[in-house]
Amino acid sequence: MRIVFIGPPGAGKGTQAERLTEHLKIPHLSTGDMLRQAKDHGTDIGKLAGQYMDAGKLVPDGVIIQVVGERLRQPDCQQGCLFDGFPRTISQAESLDEFLRSDGTPLDAVLELYVPENVLVERLIARGRGDDNLEAIRQRFKDYEAITTPLLDYYKERALLYRIDGTGTMDEVFERIKTTVNSL
Ligand code: AMP
Repeated sequence: MRIVFIGPPGAGKGTQAERLTEHLKIPHLSTGDMLRQAKDHGTDIGKLAGQYMDAGKLVPDGVIIQVVGERLRQPDCQQGCLFDGFPRTISQAESLDEFLRSDGTPLDAVLELYVPENVLVERLIARGRGDDNLEAIRQRFKDYEAITTPLLDYYKERALLYRIDGTGTMDEVFERIKTTVNSL
């Protein structure tokens, strides 16, 4: 199964993605993790990507597509995978479609973990994290929406989008995810 997982900062996406990959026995492809690893190893791609990451910018599409393309050729991706943090642009989404189409293994679903902004704000404030002041939280949410809205439209047009209610406990949310994935 090939799934794209999308969710706002603070929605518990990392935890749910881990649980889902364990449940489906597929690798978890987080482009953020892959880039941080390349950076730590000091590879050419890592050095290049690091300049953008340190500046808080998106890494250019060509670099990301190369990294993901190489990862998809690894044998553990033959049975599927879960994409986390990718695609972040329409161009990345189109490249992913091309990769998967040429392999005859199209995407099965795009899961959008949906949590309203006010609930996220309450959760983050309840955690009492010093860097999570209201303004920063709202800005992160705005950035997230600006990036994801076109992607969500892209996948909605292709009838691949499933919105998951991300409110409630971690277990409740995971049950909803499982129900959706099992129905595919
Ligand atoms: P993340 O852990 O997903 O927040 O990613 C950390 C950083 O890696 C981001 O701020 C970007 O600089 C870069 N990055 C990760 N995934 C992508 C992507 N799909 N496209 C462009 N940049 C990315």
